[in-house]
Amino acid sequence: MKILVTGGAGFIGSHLVDRLMESGHQVVCLDNLYTGATVNNAQWLDHPNFQFIQHDVVEAIAIEGLDQIYHLACPASPVHYQFDPIKTAKTNFLGTLNMLELAKQCSARLLLASTSEVYGDPLLHPQHEEYWGNVNCTGIRSCYDEGKRIAETLTFDFHRQFGTEIRVARIFNTHGARMLENDGRVVSNFIVQALKGIPLTVYGDGSQTRSFCYVSDLVEGLIRLMNGNYIGPVNLGNPGEYTILQLAQTIQKMINPDAELIFKPLPQDDPQRRQPDISAAKFHLGWEPTVALEEGLSKTIAYFRDRLKEA
Ligand code: NAD
Ligand code: UDP
Repeated sequence: MKILVTGGAGFIGSHLVDRLMESGHQVVCLDNLYTGATVNNAQWLDHPNFQFIQHDVVEAIAIEGLDQIYHLACPASPVHYQFDPIKTAKTNFLGTLNMLELAKQCSARLLLASTSEVYGDPLLHPQHEEYWGNVNCTGIRSCYDEGKRIAETLTFDFHRQFGTEIRVARIFNTHGARMLENDGRVVSNFIVQALKGIPLTVYGDGSQTRSFCYVSDLVEGLIRLMNGNYIGPVNLGNPGEYTILQLAQTIQKMINPDAELIFKPLPQDDPQRRQPDISAAKFHLGWEPTVALEEGLSKTIAYFRDRLKEA
């Protein structure tokens, strides 16, 4: 198949590209390199089945003969999506619109990488797909949260209005190799801080929770969703729920038991609890994560250890 991966030079996108290339597909990777880097696709750059296009999804593009589109282009870390929030909103609205137009032109199936952020600061726990969420539409996270919500709306409207084949994944916090050192997300921050011997920055009192999925599990879920019959939306994440303080202590124990923890103010609208209900993914995709927290963390730690040695 000829498969487009937008955001394919980013963290999750590059692991997806690896899986698709290993399966013998023709892969077009489209990315504006905002938070991604071609080094993430280094092993494929000279491969005849691989094409890299530096392009911003906010601008329309014509590509012929596509069978599938995985639409991941969008910064995912609060630090990066809040840097230029209007651009983030445009990426989600115009970018998704352009990719849906492309899917319609090619009669390709499009999978949207949506997010647990569509549930906002959830009033229901754990979150299942029928929950409509609790999102502040004027806060600093809204460019991303509302951006992804309108992206889901557009995707479902293309399906209803034009019969476009769609799949919608709601991705929960994911970690692994190729996250950026300055990414700003909690797993990379804590690991890099512990490795550098500087204090781990816990925001708030650390009682807020998240559930952490290892990237190989997530990519398997995306591929199953794309190639199955269920259109979604479907939660993809690891249901193991941890407080941020527990995460800090786990990483402290794994890297440097003497590392200091310091407490910083909690950012505005930071969700208090987050845990995916993955019954739908289990039932419709036969999918559930296989990598436990510490096992995944040890791989992510090994990656950052090497990166910091190289630097
Ligand atoms: P990432 O920042 O590493 O990757 C995003 C990629 O998209 C980067 O390569 C970036 O350069 C590219 N990009 C950004 N804006 C673009 C634009 N306008 N045009 C073209 N390319 C653009 O983030 P990630 O963690 O790999 O996330 C990938 C997708 O998964 C995103 O859509 C994100 O919202 C979603 N997601 C990720 C997580 C997570 O925990 N990693 C959780 C929920 C949802
Ligand atoms: N967080 C933290 N220290 C950091 C970075 C993040 O305590 O150095 C917290 C953040 O406030 C949030 C959680 O960790 O409660 C997850 O943050 P992240 O940015 O990784 O993802 P998101 O909030 O989008 O789930």
